[in-house]
Amino acid sequence: MIINKSINAFKEAKEVIPGGVDSPVRAFNSVGGVPRFIARGDGAYIEDIDGNRYVDFIQSWGPLIFGQNDKEIKQDVIKSIDNGLSFGAPTESETLLAKEILKHYRYIDKIRFVSSGTEAVMSAIRLARGYKNRDDIVKFIGCYHGHSDSLLVEAGSGAATFATPSSPGVPADLTKHTLLARYNDIKSVEECFKQSNNIAAVIIEPIAGNMGFIPADKEFLQNLRKICDKYDALLIFDEVMSGFRACSDGAFAIYDVKPDIVTLGKVIGGGMPVGAFGANKDIMSKLSPDGPIYQAGTLSGNPVAMAAGLASIRRVNQDLIKSLHVKALKLTQGIKKMADKHGVDISVNTIGSMFGFFFYKNEVKNFDDALKSDSDMFAKFHAGMLEEGYYFACSQFETGFISTAVTDDIIDNTIKAVDKVFGHISGK
Ligand SMILES: *Cc1c(COP(=O)(O)O)cnc(C)c1O
Repeated sequence: MIINKSINAFKEAKEVIPGGVDSPVRAFNSVGGVPRFIARGDGAYIEDIDGNRYVDFIQSWGPLIFGQNDKEIKQDVIKSIDNGLSFGAPTESETLLAKEILKHYRYIDKIRFVSSGTEAVMSAIRLARGYKNRDDIVKFIGCYHGHSDSLLVEAGSGAATFATPSSPGVPADLTKHTLLARYNDIKSVEECFKQSNNIAAVIIEPIAGNMGFIPADKEFLQNLRKICDKYDALLIFDEVMSGFRACSDGAFAIYDVKPDIVTLGKVIGGGMPVGAFGANKDIMSKLSPDGPIYQAGTLSGNPVAMAAGLASIRRVNQDLIKSLHVKALKLTQGIKKMADKHGVDISVNTIGSMFGFFFYKNEVKNFDDALKSDSDMFAKFHAGMLEEGYYFACSQFETGFISTAVTDDIIDNTIKAVDKVFGHISGK
C-alpha cells in the first residue's frame, strides 16, 4: 500500500499542529505507523489522499451511524446552509431536535445543546453540583467523559480513592473533588460514599466505550441507582457514545435504570459538532436563564449542526439498531472464530451497533482487566487489517461501530481478511 502523500501530509502537519493532529488518538501513537490523511468518505468506505480505500469501522468515532456522506444528512445540511450559517439567536431547528431526542429519552423533560461531548459532561457536572450544593463527584476508572478538568483524573498512589490529575495543567485542588471507583464493582462505590458526605453525583458510561468496549452488569447499575438514592446523590449517565448506538432509547431501555441527568453527543450531531445534556424539569430549571447555574455557548444549537442531527436522529429506531446488531454479532463471532482457528486469545462483545474485542482469554469487566490484554497483538492486528483495507480504531481501548452502509458481503470479506491477518501474526 502506497501512503507517500499521508507521510508527507503528516510531516507538514507536525510542523504547525502538535503531533500533527487535533485529537491525540488520531496520531496512531498506540499502534505505531502513519495516520492516514482522509480525502473523502462514501457509505461504508473512506479514502485517503493517496487514493487507498478502507472499510470504515470507526465512523468518525461513532457519529456516522448512516455511514459516510449520507444523502439525507447532506441534503438537509445544504438546505440549512442556504439560509445562513449561524445567528446566535434561537432557531426552530433546536426545538425540533430537542423534541426528537425527548421522544426516545422519555424520563427527561428538557435538554440543552452544546458543541461537544466534553462540554455536555462539563455542564452536567456543574448542574449536578449546583443543584445539590455539593462539590464532590464519583467517576469510574477507565471511563472517559471528555477532557474537562474535574474528569481528567487517575487513581492516586495507594488505596486512596481520591483522584489525582492525569494531565499537567489540571490543578490537584480541583481533582481532589473527584473520587474514583472501579467499574462493575459496587463495593468500591460504597467506599467513596464512606469517604465523603459531600458527593453531588456519580457519573458513569453505562455502556463503556473508552477503555475498550465494556458494558456494565445489570445488577451493578441497578445497585448504583440504589446507592445514589440512599445518599441523595444524582446519577449521571454519559451516553455521548452509546446514545442512539447501543439502543434507540438509551441505556435506560437496556438496564431499566433511570439516571437523573443524561449526556449525549456523537450520533445526535450526525457528523457535526453537537452535544447535549438533559434532566427532569426541576433539575433543568436551575440552569441559566431560568435559574442561577451558568452555562452558555456562542455556537450552541447551531442551525446547520441541528439540521445534520435531525436528519440522523429522526431515522434511528430500535428496528434499525437491531439490524445493525445482527451485523455486529456476525462480525464479532467471525473474528472470534478466526482467533480460535489460529490459537489467538480473544474476548469479544457487542451491544446494538457497538462492538469491541480484547486480546485476552477471559471476559473483560473493568479497566484492570482491559490492561491485561495483549496490546502488541492489537497493534499487529491493526496494522495488518489497515494494509488489507479495513480501518479499525487505532487503539485497543476504543470501540468499533457498524453503520447502515456496512453490508453482509463487507462483513464476510472482513472476516476473510481477519483470517489472513491472524495467519500472519499468530506465529502458529
Ligand atoms: C466522545 C466522548 C466524550 C467527549 O465528547 P467530545 O465530543 O469528544 O468532546 C464524552 N463522553 C463519552 C462517553 C465519549 O465517548
